[in-house]
Amino acid sequence: MQRYQLRIAGQARDPAGGAWFETQNPYTGQTWAEIPRGNAQDVDAAVQAAHQALTAGPWAEMTATQRGALMRRLGDLIARDAAALAATEVRDNGKLLAEMAGQLNYIPQWFYYYGGLADKVQGSTLPLDKKGYFAFTRHEPVGVVAAITPWNSPLLLLAWKLAPALAAGCTVVVKPSEFTSASTLEFADLFEEAGFPPGVFNVVTGFGHEVGTALVEHPLVAKISFTGSDATGRLINEKAGKLLKHTAMELGGKSPNIVFEDADLEQAAFGAISGIFAATGQTCIAGSRLLVQDSIHDALVDKLLAVARTARMGDPMSPDTQVGPVTTPPQYQKVLDYIAIARSEGATVVLGGEKGTAPECGQGWFVQPTIFTGVRNGMRIAQEEVFGPVLSIIRFKDEPEALRIANDVRFGLAAAVWTQDIGRAIRMSERLQAGTVWVNTYRAVSFMAPFGGYKDSGLGRENGIDAVREYLQTKSVWINSGAVTGNPFVMR
Ligand code: NAD
Repeated sequence: MQRYQLRIAGQARDPAGGAWFETQNPYTGQTWAEIPRGNAQDVDAAVQAAHQALTAGPWAEMTATQRGALMRRLGDLIARDAAALAATEVRDNGKLLAEMAGQLNYIPQWFYYYGGLADKVQGSTLPLDKKGYFAFTRHEPVGVVAAITPWNSPLLLLAWKLAPALAAGCTVVVKPSEFTSASTLEFADLFEEAGFPPGVFNVVTGFGHEVGTALVEHPLVAKISFTGSDATGRLINEKAGKLLKHTAMELGGKSPNIVFEDADLEQAAFGAISGIFAATGQTCIAGSRLLVQDSIHDALVDKLLAVARTARMGDPMSPDTQVGPVTTPPQYQKVLDYIAIARSEGATVVLGGEKGTAPECGQGWFVQPTIFTGVRNGMRIAQEEVFGPVLSIIRFKDEPEALRIANDVRFGLAAAVWTQDIGRAIRMSERLQAGTVWVNTYRAVSFMAPFGGYKDSGLGRENGIDAVREYLQTKSVWINSGAVTGNPFVMR
């Protein structure tokens, strides 16, 4: 069994408390590695290292062009090691190799894009209303960033934070999910190889109430960039508010996938399936509410069933598998509990609804792809994030009703509209309360497209040019070019 070490100040080291915890493979249920159980002492060492790198030494001295070059080298190394890192992620989170390999092959683009952006961050000269001054702005790194990540796509979601943070000149301490820490620890080795100075990137693994809390409360952490559940996000934001720290919050979703009667039903069915069964539904942008116009309801359900019935559960490492296990035992239980809740609320199971126990499921934590019809939007199954392969189908009669149902939820991460009517597509995209709206597609993301939540789905944006601003603070510099300092008791 593999035993990992923390990565602090460019070195692999044992946790201060001398304790490790086990991590399991969701497909076999077997422990496959030991992860360091970091504590507040490790967090302090990592944050001090990050602060040292931020304020003195080669990183602080580097030009933005040099930082960008390092980031592009890192992208090349990720591309080189993508297969191995993807395999580690599959062992840890049970998602399909096809999915994780796709993510790992894509991650270098974040480092190329933001590496290129690093030396294009520029301030402006200010057209002042006062004579005798020259003034300009500088955009400076916000400080040490604590990145706290979830288990569903560990390295992709880290890249969304790390690449703009490095481009801005920040240094970073990461706490990955305790369920999927291994890939982040392996990834850290690439930093030294790429030539980053020690302390720019540090990893402290462990539990939320130990490492997570210590990071959030550390006085030298300036910004907390969090991706995870809205419950944890609220807790962190509350603490950060008291301590006056910057935050960015990427939280959960209950995204509506809306199919109108004029849609290409074949495409809409694929979109609905990819929205909820890809990644076993363990994605923040899961299209977990399928809103279907009355006149095509039965036809679309038939199409969905025809595709979803044939979905092959099994070993996530196998290229034939389409649905893998749920990542963690608590999550497995949570998904099963929600299926029971939906049944008790009166929704009708038309597919699945049980544990996956076929031989190809091995000892894994499998839930059958599950579809409920007859769901009303007020039901818990339509309002709460399940984070599993459970689809709720809700009927609507016309566009205003679709919009009302779609927006009648506390989340606002994503939404999709399936229609051939361009006017309707535009109206809906204007009125849907979500950070991302797709028209006739689902689950498309890019380093170029801003991503984030409306309402309870979060604060701030990742991806796109503006994401770098999340890691910068603006300074105005005033230079006296001839003004006379007169009465010292009044404002200039
Ligand atoms: P989680 O909130 O349980 O954990 C996320 C991270 O927070 C983990 O690293 C955890 O250890 C840490 N943590 C827990 N308690 C903490 C505390 N008190 N202080 C500091 N850190 C703490 O979330 P999860 O179960 O790992 O991930 C699933 C959730 O993430 C879902 O709600 C999903 O929608 C959301 N998510 C959102 C996005 C997005 O971009 N919006 C992407 C992926 C996942």
